Amino acid sequence: MLTTNQEKTMDTLSARTKVGVQDCVLLEDYKSMQAFVDNLQKRFREDLIYTYIGPVLISVNPYRTLNIYNDRIVALYQNVGFYEVPPHIYAIANTAYRSIVTEFRDQCVLISGESGAGKTEATKKILHYIAASCPHTVKVDQVKKRLLQSNPILEAFGNAKTTRNDNSSRFGKYMDIQFSIKGHPVGGHILNYLLEKSRIVNQTTGERNFHIFYQLLASGDRKLLDHLRLHKDPNSYAILCKGQCISVNTIDDAAEFGEMRKAMEICEIKESDQMELFTVVAAVMHLGNMKFASERGGSADVMNKVPVEIVSQLLGCKEEKLLRGLLNRTIDVRGEKVVTPLTKEQAIHARDALAKGIYDRLFSWLVKRINDSLGAKEDEEVKPVMGLLDIYGFEVFLHNSFEQFCINYCNEKLQQLFITLTLKSEQDEYINEGIEWEPVQFFNNKIICDLIDAKPVGIMAILDEECLRPGDATDFTFLEKLADTFGTHPHFVCHATAEYQIRRTLKQDEFRILHYAGDVTYKLRGFMDKNNDLLFRNLKEVISESKNRVSSDCFPKEEICADNKKRPVTAGSQFRTSLAELMDILMSKQPCYVRCIKPNNNKRAYTFDERLVRHQVTYLGLLENVRLRRAGFAYRRPYEVFFRRYKCLSKETWPVFHGTARHGTQLLVKYLPMKEDDFRLGETKIFIRLPETLFAIEDVLQES
Ligand code: ADP
Ligand code: MG
Repeated sequence: MLTTNQEKTMDTLSARTKVGVQDCVLLEDYKSMQAFVDNLQKRFREDLIYTYIGPVLISVNPYRTLNIYNDRIVALYQNVGFYEVPPHIYAIANTAYRSIVTEFRDQCVLISGESGAGKTEATKKILHYIAASCPHTVKVDQVKKRLLQSNPILEAFGNAKTTRNDNSSRFGKYMDIQFSIKGHPVGGHILNYLLEKSRIVNQTTGERNFHIFYQLLASGDRKLLDHLRLHKDPNSYAILCKGQCISVNTIDDAAEFGEMRKAMEICEIKESDQMELFTVVAAVMHLGNMKFASERGGSADVMNKVPVEIVSQLLGCKEEKLLRGLLNRTIDVRGEKVVTPLTKEQAIHARDALAKGIYDRLFSWLVKRINDSLGAKEDEEVKPVMGLLDIYGFEVFLHNSFEQFCINYCNEKLQQLFITLTLKSEQDEYINEGIEWEPVQFFNNKIICDLIDAKPVGIMAILDEECLRPGDATDFTFLEKLADTFGTHPHFVCHATAEYQIRRTLKQDEFRILHYAGDVTYKLRGFMDKNNDLLFRNLKEVISESKNRVSSDCFPKEEICADNKKRPVTAGSQFRTSLAELMDILMSKQPCYVRCIKPNNNKRAYTFDERLVRHQVTYLGLLENVRLRRAGFAYRRPYEVFFRRYKCLSKETWPVFHGTARHGTQLLVKYLPMKEDDFRLGETKIFIRLPETLFAIEDVLQES
């Protein structure tokens, strides 16, 4: 029985289907891009930002607050079949949650889309839905609160204003929520990926450094600022104003700082730890103010000793040693220490590497602390989990570097996973069920993944090889090797090997990858450096001896001792390894997908830029997705489930029937409102082509 509220929703459902279709599988002209985008646009105009492709949710960012996220709406989506209510992020959350509660099956929600499309907001909505759906007990409330409150903390340290999004996540995040057998959230765990640490020392025009710096200065806490020897004007700190953008009208730094500190309290980060944390943040700012001059003979010296003095005081390390570390490089040559003075450029590089290194590790430290408070314990019971993946979408800038290369590689891997899990498993299911169908041609991007990560000959492997090769390796020798190896690869282009027409569009210091989502040209400069991610050992050593517990935690002694023996792990291979692990985690779970779309580049409400949306629809592979659902069957259920629900609709199967559910279904279908071509009977399941057919059967059931 439906409640009155649910009946109302059913009403809205049929009314709303007048505004386009709520499942793109129902589009008459389902192969057409125009029809697809028109449908999204029509719905967007009516504030219907959600649309399905079968079980996949498309979400178009409204850029304004809609009144569709509250307890009343949460209640509507609880315990209701997916197709019985209008598309909503809550429906996705509900489906995943129900599977956990009833089948104890691990779930994951994969949220993708470009920067500013609404991924992070979507994860928050899912968390809220879960929090609102679970009963209140002291323990559950505590876990819920901490899961939710981890957001403002991680966003303060890991988000920044970019030209695309005022609150852009500059790291990838995978969060597991653990449930008890009763379906209560009892813990959680966060994995973080590749913080964009280059932002620490440089920001492009119109962008900021991570929020925390501005928050701290805006805090208005004189005592704290004095203690950290900070001035409240961000313009006093070189690394805060590279993008000539200090305040953002959508952001209240002071208020957010307050929120963040409350969140820290909830996540059990003690006042004393907070102080140590802010001290490190302050040290990074002061570090950025160190300037170097070139002495006669070419070696570097500091121009202003004050920042050096402040940093060493804040971190509680020896000023002398810090200075020596910044101006020299010490290497062990057969047990003997050889000290070489650095040039001005090298010293700047060392300073920047130190600032980035400290902050990057600080961020991971924070994640670890939050994980401690989320307290996911590996105890005897295996508990079902729901994973939420919120990770950077495909990025194409005017200048793309190593960071974009990694991010876009990550998206190739996710697309590969999507293909494997959805498209391929879809086809496989029809084959396994013995159902005939025309295969759908789709582009398999495995070839691009291989181009990047194959061993021993992929772009990353070649980059590593160049990075570890002693001698004259440079970004250019790296490119030469790429040209030699991939000159004829269909997805790789560079100046040396391209045909004339294409060569004209490329500079000598660039290479281009034809990604599944589109072509991206990468600037060579900095690839080696960023992959090497070199922080001199003597600088690490200085910080490891720091009296500040956070920073000494971040640079453990054992690591520094081990450094000498091991081959250094490059940033690229570290990322590749952690991505491979992520893929394994995701593979083992039942996935659902949220595809976020950004309707315009100006963060404006009521504005739908058709061209921009088309582009995103293309690279998210949405049309292909529709084609596949349509070529196949939108609805499928095991015979047992289907028969149990509908057996009362035929006199041959009701009130008593002794055969198998499959046999029963065979008899039953003759009595249901569908034609021969509307359904197929597989080995273990019934397949129904269109959701409307199912609705018609439901109607008969409701009337009976
Ligand atoms: P992403 O994580 O994909 O980069 P965000 O989730 O941070 O993007 O969204 C960017 C901005 O868009 C948010 O700060 C918010 O202002 C707006 N936004 C996103 N999703 C919604 C939504 N469902 N309703 C209202 N505003 C939204
Ligand atoms: Mg985000």
